[in-house]
Parts: sequence; structure tokens; C-alpha cells
Amino acid sequence: MRLTIIGCSGSFPGPESPASSYLLEAEGFRLVLDLGNGALGVLQRHADLYSIDAVALSHLHPDHCLDMCGYWVARRYAPGGPKPAIPVYAPDRAAERLTLAYGLEPDPGPGMTDAFAFRTLAPGTQRVGPFQVTTARMSHPVETYGFRIEHGGRVLAYSADTGPTEALVDLARDADLLLCEATFLEEPDLPSGLHLTGRQAGEHAARAGARHLVLTHISPGTDKQRSFAEAEAVFPGAISLAAPGQEFDLAPAGALPL
Ligand SMILES: [Zn+2]
Repeated sequence: MRLTIIGCSGSFPGPESPASSYLLEAEGFRLVLDLGNGALGVLQRHADLYSIDAVALSHLHPDHCLDMCGYWVARRYAPGGPKPAIPVYAPDRAAERLTLAYGLEPDPGPGMTDAFAFRTLAPGTQRVGPFQVTTARMSHPVETYGFRIEHGGRVLAYSADTGPTEALVDLARDADLLLCEATFLEEPDLPSGLHLTGRQAGEHAARAGARHLVLTHISPGTDKQRSFAEAEAVFPGAISLAAPGQEFDLAPAGALPL
């Protein structure tokens, strides 16, 4: 499977990146993980908007989901007629929340359901196209899911937004790549149950036995090199700072490199 970073700016878009969004591809199937502010534009550099097969939203904070409003317009009023609804895996009440964000009337419908077939996320494992997707609740003020996505014997884990939690260690167990938020830098009296620091991201990756840690969701103006250094002090594996357009290929286990 291939991961492309579409947007990695924490909490709101920055001058160099949209807010959170990631494209995951395997066997011709395209899954978009989160679609935060600004992501719909950059996504089009990497995939035709009508080639997306499914969307998964970790939670309903705007920096993870708000560009679903623009995507609804793109599908509903596509040249040549409306595009068929695609599955959107999201927390409870996503259909209503996004419909209201757009300014559509949820009742009577259809709201956004003519373009999106909303499927309510819950902890557990399910098949999404060629992927085996396991979701677990993270530690964040709203209902938020982290993801473990498996394909071809390889594992990608995504923290979404979270404070420190054992659930993330379990989700990322032996992952080839952990895409982990690192919103904060270490300092006294950080709020609990909200976000991780670079050091905490590194600690979660180390305890999970992940091979490669990709730090993401770093806010504009935050010193990324400090975040990297915090993680490096506690995680012995490879570390990358997420950047828009960056690709990570997780070839099927046992495949020879090209
Ligand atoms: Zn959030």
C-alpha cells in the first residue's frame, strides 16, 4: 500500500500545508483518511476527485473533516451529472454535523446522503476495499478513532488526535509505519486528554515496536526540529516529519524491491 501525505498541519491549515488528510492506495483502491481544511485542493494533485473509493474521518473537528463540504459539491454537481455515493466511515452523527456545516437542511433530507453513504464507526475490525481496518477510541475531547490498516502483510497505524493512551500502543503494535500526531512540544502543565508531544509520540512508537515513526499534526509556527529531537531521544527507529506530497510505499511483505 502507498501512503501520500495530503495535509499535515496541526489544528488549522498553514502556509505550507492543508490541515489533516492522507491518501492510502492499494490494488487501485483509494481511501482518504480525514479531509481537513484546505485538503480538497491538494488532494487533486494526487488523485482525480472521482477516483476516490471511500473516506474515513477520525473525528469531527474541522481540521479533520471540513473539506467534506466542498467534496459534496464536487460530487453532487459533477460535470455530466451527480456521482454515485461513496462510503464515508465516520463517528456518530457525521451526516447531520456536516450537513449543518454546509447549511443544508438535514430534515427532510437528503442532506449529503446523495453523495456520501455514511457508516458509523465503532471500535472493531472491518474490511474497506482491500484493507483490513481496525479502529479504536483515542483520548481526545470528542469521539475520535485511531486506525490500524493492514494490507499485503504490512501495517500502517494512524493516531488521529489523541493524548497519551494505551489504545494507541495496542493499535500500532509492530506497525511498519506509525503516522502519529505531535501537536505539542514538551513543557510544564500541558492539558491532558488532548494531544501528544514529540517525545510522547516517540514513546508510544517505541512501546508499540513500530519501525518507522512519521510525525504529523504539528501546528504552524511550532518548531518541527524540536519535535523531531524530542522523538529521537526516545525512539530508536526511523523518524520522518510529514510534509505534503510525501509518499511512503509499504510493499507487500516478501516482495523484492523494484
Ligand atoms: Zn481534534
